Amino acid sequence: MTTDNLQKCAGCGVPIQTDAPDKLGYAPTAALQKETVTCQRCFRIKHYNEMSTVTPNQDDFLKILSSIGAKKALVVHIVDLFDFEGSLIAGLHRFVGQNPVVLVVNKIDLLPKAINVNRILNWVQKQAKENGIRTSEIVLCSAKKNIGFERVVETIARYRGDQDVYVVGATNVGKSTLINRLIHDYSDLEAELTTSPFPGTTLDLVHIPLDDGRHIVDTPGIVYSHRLTELIDKRDLKTVLPDKPIKPSVFQLNERQSLFFGALARFDFVQGERQSFTCYVSNALTIHRTKLEKADELYAAHKGEMLAPPEADRLDALPPLVKHAFRIPKGRVGEVLVSGLGWIAVNSDAGAQIVVHAPKGVKVALRDPMI
Ligand code: GDP
Repeated sequence: MTTDNLQKCAGCGVPIQTDAPDKLGYAPTAALQKETVTCQRCFRIKHYNEMSTVTPNQDDFLKILSSIGAKKALVVHIVDLFDFEGSLIAGLHRFVGQNPVVLVVNKIDLLPKAINVNRILNWVQKQAKENGIRTSEIVLCSAKKNIGFERVVETIARYRGDQDVYVVGATNVGKSTLINRLIHDYSDLEAELTTSPFPGTTLDLVHIPLDDGRHIVDTPGIVYSHRLTELIDKRDLKTVLPDKPIKPSVFQLNERQSLFFGALARFDFVQGERQSFTCYVSNALTIHRTKLEKADELYAAHKGEMLAPPEADRLDALPPLVKHAFRIPKGRVGEVLVSGLGWIAVNSDAGAQIVVHAPKGVKVALRDPMI
C-alpha cells in the first residue's frame, strides 16, 4: 500500500494512502492537493455526519473488546435478525466482563408482514441464551426503516447510568446505519464528533458525545468469514442481502428433489414423505428446483449462468460447495440457517433427511423455528 510519504490525516492522524478505499487512511488522490488533508472517513464524518466502517483484523478487534472489559461501560451488541447465529459475537462475555449488554436485533423490517413480534422476541431470548449471551435487555429494531428506534435510545439511556456506551457488531449488520441515525437524531454537536486511535492497533474509534460528557464509542465491525456475505463479491451482495420484507417461497417436494439458490447453495430433500419447505432468502435470488440425481450435472453445466449469482466471471472466487447432512426426527420441525443467505424451514413433523451444500467455511446450522 502506498502511504504517500506518510502524510497524516488532519482528523484522526492515520497515515494517508490512496490505493485502498476500504482500508484505513484512504483519500482520493485529488484530496492531496488540499491545504489540509483528511482521510475519506473523517471527511464524511465531518461533512455529512456519516460513518463508514473500516475493517479490522481479528486480533485488533479482540484487543478492543478486552479493553471494554477493563472499564465500566454499557455494551450495545448489534446483530442481524436475518443472520442471527452468524452475526452473534461468540464469547462476548469473556471479553466484556461484568458489563451489562443490550442486544439490539436489527433488520426486523425484513421479516414477512404479519409476524408476531413477541414470538420473535421470545425466540431471540432463547437463542441468545443457548449461545451463551447474557443480556440485560433485547430490543428489536430496523435502523433503516426507523422502527423501534426510540426503544433503542431509551434502553441505552436506562442501562448506561453515567458510563460510556460501546457499540460492537459484525460487519453488515447495520451498525453504521444505526449510528448514523443516532448522530442525526440525537447529536447536534457535529464539530465534537471525534476519532481517536486505539492503542496498539491500526484502528481508530469514533466518539459521539452525549450530553453528560460521556460518549457513544463506535468500534469497527468484526469480519466473520463464516458469513456468506463476507465471502462473495460485493457486486453480488445486492442480490443476496434482502432490502425488502422477505416473501417466503414454499416448495412441495418429493424425496430426492433439490433446490438451487443461484450457484451459492443447494438444498437436497434426500428422504421422507412428500412435504413442504419454506425458503426465507432475498426476493432477488432465484431458486431452481430439480431432481437430486440431476443436480450435480445441472450445477456443472449452468453455474454462473442460469444458476447465478455469482456470475461466471467471479465463480472462481467462490469456495467449493461442501455438504452438511441433517436428520430431522419425526415429531420435530426446524430451520436450517445458511449464514448470510437465509434459512429453509422444514414445516412438517413427518421426519426428513436433508443435505445442504454451501460454500466451504460458511456456517450451516439446524435451529428451532423463528417463524
Ligand atoms: P455495518 O457494516 O454494520 O456498518 O452495516 P451498514 O450500516 O453498512 O449496513 C449493511 C447493509 O445492511 C446495507 O446494505 C444497509 O442498507 C443494510 N441495512 C442496515 N440496516 C438495515 C435495516 O434495519 N434493515 C434492512 N433491511 N437493511 C439494513
